[in-house]
Amino acid sequence: MALEALKDVVRKIKSSSSIDKYLVEEIVRDIQRALLRADVNVRHVKQISDAIKKRALSEDVLPTFNVREHIIKIVYEELMRGIGEGLDIPLKKAKIMLVGLQGSGKTTTTAKMAKYFKDKGLKAGVITADTWRPAAYDQLKQLAEAYDIGFYGDKNEKDAVKIVRDGLEKMKDYDIIIIDTAGRHALEEGLINEMIEISRVANPDYKLLVLDAAIGQLASTQAKRFHDAIGIDGIVITKFDGTAKGGGALSAAREIGIPIAFLGTGEKVEDFEKFDPAGFVSRLLGMGDIKALLEKVERVVQQEDLDPEAFLKGNFTLKDVYKQIEAMRKMGPVSKIIEMLPLGGLGLKIDDDMMEATQEKMQKFKYIMDSMTEEEITNPAIIDSSRIRRIAIGSGTSPQDVKELLKYYKTMKSVMKKMKKGKFGKLPIKGFP
Ligand code: GDP
Repeated sequence: MALEALKDVVRKIKSSSSIDKYLVEEIVRDIQRALLRADVNVRHVKQISDAIKKRALSEDVLPTFNVREHIIKIVYEELMRGIGEGLDIPLKKAKIMLVGLQGSGKTTTTAKMAKYFKDKGLKAGVITADTWRPAAYDQLKQLAEAYDIGFYGDKNEKDAVKIVRDGLEKMKDYDIIIIDTAGRHALEEGLINEMIEISRVANPDYKLLVLDAAIGQLASTQAKRFHDAIGIDGIVITKFDGTAKGGGALSAAREIGIPIAFLGTGEKVEDFEKFDPAGFVSRLLGMGDIKALLEKVERVVQQEDLDPEAFLKGNFTLKDVYKQIEAMRKMGPVSKIIEMLPLGGLGLKIDDDMMEATQEKMQKFKYIMDSMTEEEITNPAIIDSSRIRRIAIGSGTSPQDVKELLKYYKTMKSVMKKMKKGKFGKLPIKGFP
């Protein structure tokens, strides 16, 4: 995709050693070109590039930074700001209604999303209320059956609202219900009325608009009209694979102030991911270059954010492990962090396994925790062997990995307990004030 071109910008910055107006102008021009080529709208491009230019020329270079790191940091931060937050849908009971024009990928997305939540341990079902495109029924039914997802539809019923009402009644005990609604070629009155009626009857927790990445600049008008009609909570961009135009949907989301929830990245049900702004920008800029820099930025800027005392308060759950891992990832190699903890003095034996907790392992732990339910996260004691198996499958890891995380959690928990007892007085972590 054209956004790949941004990697050239990073390369250019990398090879220059002094900051001057011309360099900044040139970088900004490259960024503009790349964003425009990706169909990000002109206003949006101007906002992002003006902010970069202004900051790059006016802000002081941090003492531990060199010029190119300074610029990359600003480019990264402004792209992040320009893209905005993603929509986080918590893992609990919810009804999600999908709307969008015909061909946008709604039906495929319905199945993808159901599978996404099912993999995270929720009971997921779909309702097909697309009475406009008859093939949608069979398409969704087949996918639901193939992935062991609950399905409700009525091929002979023309009243979409009735189908939704009946489906919700039948699926009362499901955690996540995704409703696929009809799309047409244009947002006409009949479609609007039907959407409003379904939304009234279903009372969905989330109304997500499915937008095809390839529609480019049309995304804005389309999103606005859907938003005006029923109020949209989040956007799913489909066909993000192999298109240069994803920027249109991105701009649309930003302009209307709606977060992006998911990305469809291929035709297969597995080709689906939660939208993560940081990961997204890093991908745009070429991960390798950005990663090392970010670690450094965060070490310098956010050191004070890691509040060891917070970990000592209340119950230590897997959520805290998650936070810890996030903080550690920002701070560099885990072995360094562990070195800072006076574990020996606590009479705790840290075996080699734990010292070898590498960045990759931490990443794996994060995937594992992403596959757990809220209940499991807050109360890991309930995780038995069948849950371990499910979590391993959901996160693409092995039961051994899950057990390892649980062991890590237990060790950290006992460390925290001992610290809480005040054995070491206040904040016994070297390097923190
Ligand atoms: P609907 O009319 O909105 O329900 O659209 P469909 O779900 O039937 O999708 C229309 C076409 O887009 C189908 O051929 C899908 O396989 C394809 N499609 C959907 N999502 C994606 C995606 O993320 N990537 C790619 N490459 N194709 C997709």
